[in-house]
This record gives sequence, structure tokens and C-alpha cells, in this order.
Amino acid sequence: MSKTCLGILGGGQLGSFLAQAAKKLKIKTIVYCDDTDAPAKYFADDIIIGSYDEPKKIDKFIKKIDLVTFEFENIPYDILSTINKKKRVLPSPYINQLIQNRFTEKNFINDLSLKTTNFELIKNFSDLRNNKNLLPGILKTCTLGYDGKGQYVISTIEDAEKLDISFNNEFILEKKIELKKEISVIVTRYGKNKFETYEPIENVHKDQILSVSQIPAKIDKLINDQSIFWSQKIAEKLDFIGTMCVEFFLDKDDKLLVNEIAPRVHNSGHLTLNSHNVSQFENHVRAVCGLQKVSTKKIYNAKMINLIGEDILIYKSKKFNHNEFFYDYKKKEVKNKRKMGHLTILENKK
Ligand code: ADP
Ligand code: MG
Repeated sequence: MSKTCLGILGGGQLGSFLAQAAKKLKIKTIVYCDDTDAPAKYFADDIIIGSYDEPKKIDKFIKKIDLVTFEFENIPYDILSTINKKKRVLPSPYINQLIQNRFTEKNFINDLSLKTTNFELIKNFSDLRNNKNLLPGILKTCTLGYDGKGQYVISTIEDAEKLDISFNNEFILEKKIELKKEISVIVTRYGKNKFETYEPIENVHKDQILSVSQIPAKIDKLINDQSIFWSQKIAEKLDFIGTMCVEFFLDKDDKLLVNEIAPRVHNSGHLTLNSHNVSQFENHVRAVCGLQKVSTKKIYNAKMINLIGEDILIYKSKKFNHNEFFYDYKKKEVKNKRKMGHLTILENKK
């Protein structure tokens, strides 16, 4: 029997790690992406460069693979669903459609009786004026936002007037929370009530970009269990296959709120490459390719530091201890606020 060939849409660091996990499992990978310098070209068996709306190129890709997954959620639904008619896309495209819009995503979470921050849909300036009760708040673009992009922190309506926001797209206005902590839960769902779930990870953001992730998270058992239960409930309701992440806020009164869902492997889970017997990437490939579910266990406590922009330059020439693992994403251009690599430090490795 010939090897399974997994198609991956997107060729950044997440695509690279997925390709490496697949290789370990003897699964062939072909990446499709729109960037000639995509780092995944160093790790996948093959790469096809094309834009996501080039049907001929996409067709060429589809012919070569058995099934498709993706590393980012902002691929237009129509494209994913067209591909899905020819080769199976996992997780299912409808999940992306629901989650790539912050408004439908937050409604979905609340409909499950789980909590989020208070929010309203904002289409124009007068909607903003009518929702002053949510200030100070964060105005977030409903679609295509990541790493704090497309977000405005607004304290007063006068502030907002100065910002000169173009309402070309829809936004949500979210009440700004006094954060005690941020945590995330990474869960891989293999099928009905079949999960491998990582313990909650504690995250620190700087300028709305993830800076440090650590396990164990310093939270009490109640929050630990609640965040895992909520994440599995979300994954089950979505009928999710593969690895996903739920980001949470813990407010000053220790109340748990869902911030957002990432229907894919997640930056906060990079430490699982070294801390666990099975990484979030391997679990994802196993789940989407229908391979055996392996009981996932923590071996080490760990801390991951994101290397953003020029941080990477210092690390490239650094010497590391045996408990430190440096990952260079091999991105051609160093850009301000761009995730360039990460370092994982295992805390109890002798
Ligand atoms: P992105 O999709 O860009 O990751 P998020 O909604 O997760 O956007 O916001 C990025 C970060 O900004 C969060 O992890 C958190 O640190 C901060 N943030 C976002 N929303 C709020 C809020 N309502 N109150 C306080 N901080 C917030
Ligand atoms: Mg986020």
C-alpha cells in the first residue's frame, strides 16, 4: 500500500511542525501556500506555491494528496468547502466558517452556556456610541484578525473619534477585562468523546502577542478542571477532528471566560514538542489521518519563550544547555512583531 499523503494549507511554522510530525509517522506531506519563502518548504516532502483562490493550482494539489488539513483558520470557507468535495478536509470546513468570525464564534460559546466577555456587534460609529457601557473596551475586527491585528483599545468615545476607524468591515466591541491570568487548553479529539487533552498552559502576552507559555499553570483545581471540561465540550459540540486550542481569561474575581477558539495547533502548545511523549502536532496528524490514539503524558514541566522580531538574532549564535531547545522557524525576513522562533526550557530535566 502506498503511503498516505497529507495536504497542509499554509506553510508557516505550524505547517512546518505538522510536516515534521507526519514524517515521524511515515506520512507524506505536501504543503500548499502563497509564499515562495514559506519555511515549510524545508520540512514537507513537497510544496506547491499558489494563491488560495487559484482553482487550477488547488486542483493540482488536490490530485496529489489523500486528505487535507490547515495551519491557519482564515482560509475562505468557499475554498475549503470546494476542496472538501474532492478530498476530505479535517477539521471540517464549517468549523472554520463559524470560528473565523468573532461574532458567530462568541455566540456559539454562549449558546453552550459557557462564559465570554460581554460584547456587541459594531457596524458603524453610532453602534459604538450606543454601546458605551462596554467601555473601556477592545474593538476587534470580526474576521482576519490575529496577534492583536485589527484591534483598537478604546477608553472613551472621544478616543474612538480620534482613531478614525474605517468601518469597511464588521467589528465586535468587547468589554476590557482586568486580567488575572491567561490560560489555554489544547485538546485533540479523535472521535466521539475520544480526547487527548493537555493540562492548562499559562500564557503571558506582550502587546497582544504571546510571549511566554508555561506548565504547570498556577491555577487552582477548580479552574483546571473547568477549563478542560469546557474545552472538551466545545470540541465535542463542533465534532472536531484534530488538535484545537481554547484560550481563556481569568478575571480578577477568578471567573473563567473563554477568549477565543483556535481550530488548529497553537503557539501555546509548542512546549508539548519537548514536555510530552506526544506533541500537539503528532496528535493532530494521528487524529486527522485516523492513526492510533496514544495515551499522552507529560514528562517534563516546561516554559516556552517566543522569539519575536530581532530576538532571534541573539539566539542564533547562543549556546544552549541540554534542557534548552531552540527552534528557528527559518523565516527569510526578520520583521518587527513577527514570530521568528522559540526556545523551550525543560524545568525538571536532569
Ligand atoms: P488574537 O486573535 O489577535 O489573538 P485576542 O482576542 O486573543 O486576539 O487578543 C489578544 C490578546 O489581547 C489577549 O490574549 C489578551 O492578552 C488581550 N485581550 C484581548 N481581549 C481582551 C479583553 N476583552 N480584555 C483584556 N485583554 C484582552
Ligand atoms: Mg488570541
